[in-house]
Amino acid sequence: MAGPGEFELIRDYFSSRFQPDAESTSQGTGVELGIGDDCALLIPPAGKMLATSVDTLVAGVHFPENADPYRIASRALRVNLSDLAAMNAEPLWFTLALTLPESSDTWLEPFARGLADTAHQFGITLVGGDTTKGPLSITIQVTGACDKPLRRDGAGDGDIVFVSNDLGAAAAALPLVLGQMNGSERQQQLADAAYYFPEPQFGTARAIGEYASAALDISDGLLGDIGHICNGSGLGVELYLEKVPQAELVAEIKGNGADALEAALTGGDDYQLCFTVPEKHLAAVAGLQLPLTAIGRMTAERGVRCMLNGEPWQPHGTGYRHF
Ligand code: ADP
Ligand code: MG
Repeated sequence: MAGPGEFELIRDYFSSRFQPDAESTSQGTGVELGIGDDCALLIPPAGKMLATSVDTLVAGVHFPENADPYRIASRALRVNLSDLAAMNAEPLWFTLALTLPESSDTWLEPFARGLADTAHQFGITLVGGDTTKGPLSITIQVTGACDKPLRRDGAGDGDIVFVSNDLGAAAAALPLVLGQMNGSERQQQLADAAYYFPEPQFGTARAIGEYASAALDISDGLLGDIGHICNGSGLGVELYLEKVPQAELVAEIKGNGADALEAALTGGDDYQLCFTVPEKHLAAVAGLQLPLTAIGRMTAERGVRCMLNGEPWQPHGTGYRHF
């Protein structure tokens, strides 16, 4: 059965759900003109910088081809929102470039619902996009506003490295999400949450905005991503691996040996924050009472050096790379 044509599709699934004045998107801040014209017209918040970022999710690479469309939409928007969070930017607007193998209501309805639910939750609104036919792929560009940006290039020698919450859940989740392994009902729930509903760390970013010297979100694994702070800041880092907080699911799926450690260090997709704090702000950060863990220290000596219980430690990999 043929689905909606291009313009019906845009109207029925996207413009109708993202009217700037619709109650469902009370956050249509600064939208002079949304979906429907050649461009959206947007009014930047006075005195702030705009932060913008784009990410593509390809079926079979970033999510299983036959995954639930509601979850695909959630993941696609959340991973983009995570970049805004990592910059300490507040969400404003996003655009969606959607490539679909076919126009299908049974796919589009849950996808658009997932997108709208997620957007509403984080106070961001859809202002435009593009719709094409081809292998399933989802590109989202997000824009936010910030006045205290958290960049990768601000770390200083001796700054303490922190991570938010815990790591490795998404890597541990993967065999469950891909159906390569059956877990208990609880494990399946944890895996589903970790993989399809990662939490952009807006609250943490806001809280550390005053104190952190550099930050990023861990999308490709801690060991690889911390290298970006090192390179950006012209420094190296010493990590104390026994301190790296491991997600509950890691122990359940990977045990507590080397596999578990690898999942926490090189598994991507957790979208936790990694950030650095100068000594003079450590007390203030401790006082935030957030689940933050000190895991290392920036050094003048370049490179990423890992210690496990006082012994040097070498990983097998450093994180996900496309090429
Ligand atoms: P143009 O040909 O001028 O680029 P289109 O015909 O591609 O415009 O799109 C018409 C309108 O619908 C535009 O405002 C565009 O931003 C919006 N749009 C198209 N696809 C999507 C989508 N997947 N999600 C949201 N808005 C979309
Ligand atoms: Mg046009």
